[in-house]
Amino acid sequence: MRACPHLIAGRWREASDGPTSPVFNPSTGGQIASAPLADFSLVDEAVRSAHAAFPAWWETPAVDRVQVLFRFKALLESHFEKLVTLVSTEHGKTLTEARGDVRRGIQMVEYATSVPSLLMGDSLENVARGIDCDAIRQPLGVCAGITPFNFPAMVPLWMFPLALACGNTFVLKPSEKVPLTAVLLTEVLLEAGLPPGVFQLVHGARDAVDALLTHPLVEAVSFVGSTPVAREIFLKGSAHGKRVQAAGGAKNFVLLMPDAPTGEAVRGLTEAAFGCAGERCMAGSMALAVGAAGDRIVPALVQSAKSLKVGPTFNDPSVQMGPVITSPHRDRVEDLISRSEAEGARVAADGRNLRPPSAPGGFFVGPTILDHVQHGSTPWKEEIFGPVLSVLRMETLEDAIRIANQSGYGNGASIFTRSGHAAREFRHRIQAGMVGVNIGVPAAMAMFPFSGWKDSFFGDLHLQGKEAIAFYTRQKVTTSRWFGSADVWAD
Ligand code: NAD
Repeated sequence: MRACPHLIAGRWREASDGPTSPVFNPSTGGQIASAPLADFSLVDEAVRSAHAAFPAWWETPAVDRVQVLFRFKALLESHFEKLVTLVSTEHGKTLTEARGDVRRGIQMVEYATSVPSLLMGDSLENVARGIDCDAIRQPLGVCAGITPFNFPAMVPLWMFPLALACGNTFVLKPSEKVPLTAVLLTEVLLEAGLPPGVFQLVHGARDAVDALLTHPLVEAVSFVGSTPVAREIFLKGSAHGKRVQAAGGAKNFVLLMPDAPTGEAVRGLTEAAFGCAGERCMAGSMALAVGAAGDRIVPALVQSAKSLKVGPTFNDPSVQMGPVITSPHRDRVEDLISRSEAEGARVAADGRNLRPPSAPGGFFVGPTILDHVQHGSTPWKEEIFGPVLSVLRMETLEDAIRIANQSGYGNGASIFTRSGHAAREFRHRIQAGMVGVNIGVPAAMAMFPFSGWKDSFFGDLHLQGKEAIAFYTRQKVTTSRWFGSADVWAD
């Protein structure tokens, strides 16, 4: 079993006798660690440590703060494959997907190293005669991050590098399902020379989250996870006076127009639907096949899904899709497939009851395609969060946009077409924050906001990009007038 300590005030703290949560290797089904579940007093200690470290860290010039991040970035590169293996082991992603997870996280560190420029304020001379005005950005204090299981490296790295670069101190509470990547990231951060107390790692579940949301010394909370929890976090954190950004779940629509190039659409959608076993908030989980696209593209998609090699990921580079995160989650996904079938969906590719001989204990569901799904049915409403693609068939682009816009979610949407007009109409009218044209649902890069809409995001300022700089700082506007006469000063 691997160690899973907290980090408080620069010291590793091994778990005591309290409650724990099992951590599995989803490819084998074997337990590899136990995540300790922090209570209020441990979270209180972590927050107080971050609070005590804040004044010195804030006074450290931004150009000096980012030196730690330059070293962090270099060390992440040298530990890259170690991180990749750990992500693949505790999450079940393929090695290629795990490389993407870590790489996207490193890009956020690179973005954070630009903070001396990104933090620069505004000024205007002569707002009135002889009076000048300027706005500067200052850090908030103690910020907290609460992260999901599905991107063990990238999502924590969306948060703390930028928060720290802006001058805040931080408490990270990673998912109790994948806590080990967070431990390794923390080791690397310490190796980079971050002063003690500036960053704390606290493992836990609901009690630890509640302690962070209600703690009077926590100024801001970044959350990424499912929609019901995101909504709760936003309401509770806001009620306790915190600034909150809470990214939630999603159902992302991929429109297949009758003129879509078959090969490109099939490749893009196979990757969008089944990459990371569908456990992505940007998974293309709903295909809207318009007119002739249905009969032309869906059979090729089914072929493509059935050809994917599924199996244990951490030691076989030829595997194209890994397991889902836990056995209860596998049961839930299989149950949702069965419910969808009972409601009339045609199971064109069936991933239920998959038990690869090389890993009989793993939590596998094969690539599944539900065709002729009805609007309003279970697969339309539920975020399945597994390798399941639902296909709805319809006649026109207008129908497809109208149906997609009826979803409660609004993370991403894509269109495959040769028509500039259709692509332009789609981009203009679709109610989603991240849009793809002839590309599987695209997750925004570090310099752009991760721009979920509707029930995919609660708050005003998103993660990533300039919105995240605004989230982790507050502005101070100074209006100045200086007198020229010594007589005035003599008064
Ligand atoms: P989750 O909501 O179950 O858990 C997320 C975090 O919240 C974890 O740290 C967990 O310990 C904590 N938590 C869980 N239940 C809680 C509760 N009742 N009260 C307080 N804290 C609680 O999410 P998950 O299953 O780990 O991750 C998958 C979800 O995350 C999916 O819905 C996915 O779409 C979403 N997600 C969204 C984005 C985005 O940017 N919008 C990115 C990645 C994942």
